[in-house]
Amino acid sequence: MDFGKLDGLIPAVVQDRTSGEVLMVGFMNDAAWQITLDTGYVTFFSRTRNTLWTKGETSGNRLAVRQIFTDCDDDTVLVKVDREGDGNVCHTGQRSCFYTEVPVSGTRYPVPGTNSPDTGLRTPDTGEGVDEALESTQPMADGAGATAEDPADGNRQAADKKDPQ
Ligand SMILES: [Zn+2]
Repeated sequence: MDFGKLDGLIPAVVQDRTSGEVLMVGFMNDAAWQITLDTGYVTFFSRTRNTLWTKGETSGNRLAVRQIFTDCDDDTVLVKVDREGDGNVCHTGQRSCFYTEVPVSGTRYPVPGTNSPDTGLRTPDTGEGVDEALESTQPMADGAGATAEDPADGNRQAADKKDPQ
């Protein structure tokens, strides 16, 4: 592993082995990396506490290593795990640390509901989603795109109307 790019650290992406869900990202130094390999439990280096910590050592929610992949330039690892304990990886009690969606106004492919990871959270049942979906389709219907996109069709229809005369 190449620990030189981030002052002795490599990012470790932790993914649920069965669901594919990204659970958390932490950093490993060489010692944390070796402990992870030797014990089979994901161990990080805490930058804030300046110490090694095995994820779940106090909560019991340890991350049992099943597979590890290194990336193309050997400076990041992907760790596929099974979740132990109650299975909630984040210290907030969420299964994954990535439960906060950031709005992306410039997204090219806005597909409501499919760009959010399944966090196991209850979906607010307010009915607002339906209203938002209806509103979002109306500007498209009002646009001139439907007729402007295929001028050949328009010409054909105009010609058809003239024929009966
Ligand atoms: Zn977290």
